[in-house]
Amino acid sequence: MKRILIALALAFGPMNAQPQPTNLIPAPVEYSVRPGSVSLDKLAGQGEKVRISPKALLRRLEGRKLADWQLKSAYWLELGKKGVKIVAADEEGVFYARQTLKMMASVDSTLTCCTILDWPRFPYRGVMLDESRHFQGKSFVMKQLEMMALLKMNRFHFHLVDNPGWRVQIDAYPRLTKLTAWRPQAFFWDWEKNEIGGPFVEEGTPGAYGGYYTKQDIADILSFADERHIEVIPEIEMPGHNYETRYAFPELACSLPGGGKDPWELCPGKESTFEFLEKVLLEIFDMFPSQYIHIGGDEARKNNWKLCPDCQARMKAEGLESVEGLQSYMIKRMERFAHEHGKRIIGWDEILQGGLAPDATVMSWHGIEAGLQAVREGHDVIFTPTHYYYLDYHQDPAQFRPVGRHVPLEKVYSFEPITEGVSEADAHHVLGVQGNLWTEHVQDAWHAEMMLYPRVFAIAETGWSQTERKDWHDFERRALALSNVARKWGYTVYPPLSQQ
Ligand SMILES: [Zn+2]
Repeated sequence: MKRILIALALAFGPMNAQPQPTNLIPAPVEYSVRPGSVSLDKLAGQGEKVRISPKALLRRLEGRKLADWQLKSAYWLELGKKGVKIVAADEEGVFYARQTLKMMASVDSTLTCCTILDWPRFPYRGVMLDESRHFQGKSFVMKQLEMMALLKMNRFHFHLVDNPGWRVQIDAYPRLTKLTAWRPQAFFWDWEKNEIGGPFVEEGTPGAYGGYYTKQDIADILSFADERHIEVIPEIEMPGHNYETRYAFPELACSLPGGGKDPWELCPGKESTFEFLEKVLLEIFDMFPSQYIHIGGDEARKNNWKLCPDCQARMKAEGLESVEGLQSYMIKRMERFAHEHGKRIIGWDEILQGGLAPDATVMSWHGIEAGLQAVREGHDVIFTPTHYYYLDYHQDPAQFRPVGRHVPLEKVYSFEPITEGVSEADAHHVLGVQGNLWTEHVQDAWHAEMMLYPRVFAIAETGWSQTERKDWHDFERRALALSNVARKWGYTVYPPLSQQ
């Protein structure tokens, strides 16, 4: 901790004596200093002038070529002694200009006068939260959306269902939440033994741990996210990670004793499985306006399918030679259903197995190879590689409940999504980056935030800032400054103050 303490002392004492040129995360494209500085008190009395005009913004861009989605997010900001001027092509750009001001004002009390011209590098800048293994709930989610917005992140991937609990209200199947959203043990690993799920208890059982989002909760979160230009992408897992679904509806498992030895898989041989998934998705589509539905697709073991008469009959009827082909059949069929309702699918990179659905977007988590393959095949990809962006992995070997590999802030910061394996012509298929907080080991809000921050700052900068604006040592200084601000706002940031 000593090194961090020294760095903190360098960053904060003497507090604000010399305003830094910029303490912004993510680093803006262009930042130029103007004469003088202005105090927040003075600035508050000056107000702001906002102009929303694509033409006016294009004039400020002076011939720089931006994609349409970049223009929408771009902004020009002038901070002078007489106040603030903002020019943008869209409300979204104005929003990001205000986030820039908010961050500047929260780190320094006297601001250097400046001009900023800024736009994002990637359209997808995301965070995923696993709400199944441990449940944090609505106010926690909103708090993290607030920080995401400040960091100019714009996609929240909501992992709502998985083996340890179904956590969203589905009116067609109330058994899902009534029977699987609660359990006797609070800590996940006390519940799950040997990778086989433990017992659930019914909603209303005294002392039970758990919870789920009602439709009203989801509507509240969506409206909060929408005000912050964040799209919420729900995930409904299939065909694996469905222990909880099989608990509520054992008939959706394969036609084998006990549903087969693999405890998580649904049976893609049965029509009733598709009827169930489609009814669930229709309600999800009604709840979430995002063009995307994440259908999971990861870690299906497929052993049951080799033995199940229904799966074997399906494979024969469809001319499928392997169980990988059966997984591909299921994903492609679900994609057709999504398309019929104006939606596109995202899946974990296992959806490449047996042939990828034509329009699917791949979330590349096994390193980056699967993502590169999908890009070469003309698919959109979001990079979320385990060794860089799995935020359940520990930041410090001595950390509270360390798991996985050591993924410190510098490692997260070092990830570059456009590698040699991506040609210039294919680069537009790289939609962006996402950090994933799986919560096997993460029981409460304190721990969850400690895993998120400051590493999410690094992912935000990789998603937004141009490569030439990235600089680890400068970022480290800015991350320490923002960490301190985030702590004042009530976030837990690693290293937590209690461990410094
Ligand atoms: Zn089956």
